[in-house]
Amino acid sequence: MEPACGLLARYREWMDLPPHTRDQLTLCEGNTPLIPVPRLAERLGGGFDLYVKYEGLNPTGSFKDRGLVAAVAEAWGRGAQAVICASTGNTAASAAAYAARAGLKAVVVVPQGKVALGKLAGALAYHARVVQVQGSFDHALDLVRQAVERHPIALVNSINPYRLEGQQTAAFEIVDALGRAPDWLAIPVGNAGNITAYWMGFTRYHRAKNTGLPRLLGVQAQGAAPLVLGHPVEKPETVATAIRIGNPARGQEALQAARESGGRIIAVPDAAILEAQSWLAEEGIWVEPASAAGLAGLAAEIRQGRLDPQGKTIVVVCTGHGLKDPDIVLQHADALPTIEPKLAHLEPYLTADR
Ligand SMILES: *Cc1c(COP(=O)(O)O)cnc(C)c1O
Repeated sequence: MEPACGLLARYREWMDLPPHTRDQLTLCEGNTPLIPVPRLAERLGGGFDLYVKYEGLNPTGSFKDRGLVAAVAEAWGRGAQAVICASTGNTAASAAAYAARAGLKAVVVVPQGKVALGKLAGALAYHARVVQVQGSFDHALDLVRQAVERHPIALVNSINPYRLEGQQTAAFEIVDALGRAPDWLAIPVGNAGNITAYWMGFTRYHRAKNTGLPRLLGVQAQGAAPLVLGHPVEKPETVATAIRIGNPARGQEALQAARESGGRIIAVPDAAILEAQSWLAEEGIWVEPASAAGLAGLAAEIRQGRLDPQGKTIVVVCTGHGLKDPDIVLQHADALPTIEPKLAHLEPYLTADR
């Protein structure tokens, strides 16, 4: 007997998946830590409980594993031979890993030159066929949608409903850990599947167990903020590549979720995202830039007096690991000192303030 681990073992009864779904598919994803960050709460003014849901600790380094385990298990059970997705990178790596695990082929279509190093390498490492498109993520998704109309290949982007069924498990875990829903959940928003899935999870649990509902603070990058502007963005630009999306597939559902929850979707500049990434690193939590958008948005709302955190429990979702995008840290770092192997040369660095 293999030990049961992963989301299909733990939360299958809460997921609306067809009977043919291959429940044995797992990389022991999910069960990620909810890390208390009291010093970070102090930095934002204090007087409340702040937690980081650290989704970078999933098997391929992002929350996408929650959705892909479900979507690939369903496709596998249906008899699909291959899966396809458009991706800013993390979906690609995750789809590739779960397809490999299931013995299926994976084709991933990515915007040329716009994918962080660790993600592209991941997709290749897991043996996906990687195709670059001369265009944006939105062009890649459009192409993939056309492809599945003509070819017997399973689409595993977040327009696939089973993706959301899997991703909602993060909300279950938060409620299971806290004993009830938090007051606020701050979360980055790109293609808007994840915020939609969280809301689905919180409401599904609340209906069954009366665990309460959070307000949702969805956060986009200012250069890629269609849900804040109210129209698609032709050429989305942001350092946060995972949310560089101009026309979110789940945009309307995300707006509705935010509204229903009594929350909202806002935008923050790249500088604020990078600052939040640095704050998290000071807590020992390294995330890729997009993952820090939730915290950046929370900080902005508190600072501007639009969100009163006093006495509240707030969860910030950090969606992906910093190792996915090492370039961004190296780009912003000072040149490293290089010395001869002599103690005297090292000593100036032992006391110097950073
Ligand atoms: C996919 C992704 C997002 C955005 O999630 P959506 O469901 O597209 O809104 C945010 N951060 C990371 C690290 C991601 O991989």
